[in-house]
Amino acid sequence: MSGLTLNNVTKQFGAFTAVDNVQLNVPHGTFVCLLGPSGCGKTTLLRMIAGLDVPTSGAIVLDGNDITAVPTHKRDLGMVFQSLALFPHLTVGENIAYPLRIRGTAKEDQRKRVDELLSLIHLPGYADRPVNKLSGGQRQRVAIARALTISPKLFLLDEPLSALDAKLREAMQVELRQLQQTLGITTIVVTHDQREAMTMADTVVVMNSGELRQAASPIEIYRRPADRFVADFIGSTNLLTTEADSAGRATVFGKVIEGVLLPPGLNRATISVRPEDVHLTAPGGNTIAGKVTFIRDLGGTIETFLDLSGTQVVAVSTPRERPAVTVGQEVGVKLSPDVCVVLLK
Ligand code: ATP
Repeated sequence: MSGLTLNNVTKQFGAFTAVDNVQLNVPHGTFVCLLGPSGCGKTTLLRMIAGLDVPTSGAIVLDGNDITAVPTHKRDLGMVFQSLALFPHLTVGENIAYPLRIRGTAKEDQRKRVDELLSLIHLPGYADRPVNKLSGGQRQRVAIARALTISPKLFLLDEPLSALDAKLREAMQVELRQLQQTLGITTIVVTHDQREAMTMADTVVVMNSGELRQAASPIEIYRRPADRFVADFIGSTNLLTTEADSAGRATVFGKVIEGVLLPPGLNRATISVRPEDVHLTAPGGNTIAGKVTFIRDLGGTIETFLDLSGTQVVAVSTPRERPAVTVGQEVGVKLSPDVCVVLLK
């Protein structure tokens, strides 16, 4: 099978489990971001894929071959780490050609490949520049090009953009994604920045405490979070306690949310509702009673803070759809069934 498969991969450091029984399939040619808070095990997982750490148990399979015990240099990888590790005394071209030079590739072929890569990373004509005269973003591109010199099977990057300022970083996210799509190379990037993951990935893998919590497309992770942790970690959300009525229908603060059922036998759960899905209306009827406590007008968006029987809920809207409410006003909150995600854990 083409692509990378992690079969129940676990890594323990002494009694501490850094990566806990991770099962993941990365189809050939896709872009995966490993995302999670500091210490969740993303770098350890990447290091095992790279062969820099050995799993305590489980297997790593690349294109149908078990590579768990294969040393790094025989895995056919391109790697970029935060530190970049470019050779400061060499030129751009010499840095990019380095993997070919140590393989004894002919000079002419080295030059051809360097030119190809320089045009891919939008730095044509830069071959003879000293690498230490480049800007941060240019250096980043050179590190990426060098990792791709030998057309690896897998492209692994650990926080590759984290040293760049915010604007450049956003631009590089788009560039990296476009480059990956041009080359069709299977790519795995570690990041703690969810915006970065959402920008680049086909599949976002959310981790916490060594566990894989959800692996899905960015929009699915956002719209259908698998659990409370993912709902809270990705974007912002409102978490509301829901209780089943006698027919199993979800209720919030005593009001039935038509069309949302709790699984049989479950009386209580949490519902996640994104702020842009909280709609304000006149109080009464089957709406949930709320009171406006604060309005934050950010120009492009307006956040309306509400108190729902002691629970704070935030509604976000654009100025065009701005509800005509003021602080202190009693309102009704409407939650439509398609935006309520029932979280079981
Ligand atoms: P960050 O975003 O901060 O880099 P991370 O998600 O990449 O975090 P890892 O570096 O994979 O996290 O570390 C996961 C856990 O394993 C951490 O608690 C870390 O302290 C621990 N750990 C990592 N490497 C070792 C090691 N060689 N020996 C002992 N513990 C380790």
